[in-house]
Amino acid sequence: MVGNDHDTAFVKFDRVQKSYDGETLVVKDLNLGIGKGEFMTMLGPSGSGKTTCLMMLAGFETATFGDILLDGKPINNIPPHKRGIGMVFQNYALFPHMTVGENLSFPLEVRGMGKDEREKKVKRALDMVEMGKFGGRRPAQLSGGQQQRIALARALVFEPELVLMDEPLGALDKNLREQMQFEIKHIHDNLGVTVVYVTHDQSEALTMSDRIAVFDDGRIQQLATPDDLYERPENAFVAAFIGENNTLRGKVVGVDGDHCTVRLDDGSKVEALAVNIEGEGARSTLSLRPERVSIAPETADNVFEGVVQELIYLGDHIRVRVSVGGNDDFIVKVPNSANGRQVKKGETLKLGWSKADCRALDPS
Ligand code: ADP
Repeated sequence: MVGNDHDTAFVKFDRVQKSYDGETLVVKDLNLGIGKGEFMTMLGPSGSGKTTCLMMLAGFETATFGDILLDGKPINNIPPHKRGIGMVFQNYALFPHMTVGENLSFPLEVRGMGKDEREKKVKRALDMVEMGKFGGRRPAQLSGGQQQRIALARALVFEPELVLMDEPLGALDKNLREQMQFEIKHIHDNLGVTVVYVTHDQSEALTMSDRIAVFDDGRIQQLATPDDLYERPENAFVAAFIGENNTLRGKVVGVDGDHCTVRLDDGSKVEALAVNIEGEGARSTLSLRPERVSIAPETADNVFEGVVQELIYLGDHIRVRVSVGGNDDFIVKVPNSANGRQVKKGETLKLGWSKADCRALDPS
């Protein structure tokens, strides 16, 4: 079981497995509960099984094993159009021969709604995405961003309780994508609709989601709020996948309650938080965020020397790449202030970090 709301969840994946070829499982024993009104994102690299999960929930794919429940009822045998789920995909999928208004009216018509009510709902949905003036246009007369807004309005027009979105902003440029992220989040907050969102873009996931399920290799690696995922990754995959991360590798040589000592491959020792280790003698990957490393600390649990390899100027801060404990790609962030210390290539820096910020994880 993942998440503590599993039993009362609005959407529930219960021991779901999926194989397309009868041999390889691309979704392996998925247990996931999604609360009513929640914005849940499935985040992970390409091929990790996110879209397959969404397609099973939508009804376009069937689970090989296990159940999917909506509002407590199994939906395995309900066809997609009877599930009452709104959907938005990357490639809009608007009907090209229909006007925007007709595109939006269509899902209402198939539900047998009368003309007056249809018009009211179409207007409301268009206003919601700030496209009220575009009802008479055809999709080809709209920009990519506008078409995606219409696709969003069409997914919402019949007021579904659940909306699925698969990389809906993938085709848009960066500025528009960020604006649409904000708008989708705003609509979600206003309507209280449950959203299941698929993306491989971690910043999109961190910006929009109540919780994120990080997928890799057909499994959820961690399910948590955005800040928990960043601050408290539970394994080496999540630590590396979310945000920037420094790794140091070694062997656990001592465990003391919540903390442990890891001897790095170059012989030096690091004090760390024992998050997910097999015990004394086991290999461990240490994970440490660059912004948690201080330069020339007065005192610190861990003090190391690092030789500066490279400086990258980034406006408000400077990224400094140093060699530390056998890692030549160890990144430190130095604030860029006029009276700040000038760091130079080739110099040796004294670096320090707290054991609470250094997470000892299982390397696999
Ligand atoms: P993601 O959305 O994380 O990129 P997918 O769910 O699309 O991952 O794919 C998971 C795995 O299933 C991949 O190895 C992919 O090649 C395979 N796959 C996806 N769709 C099909 C299909 N229709 N037939 C066969 N294999 C598929």
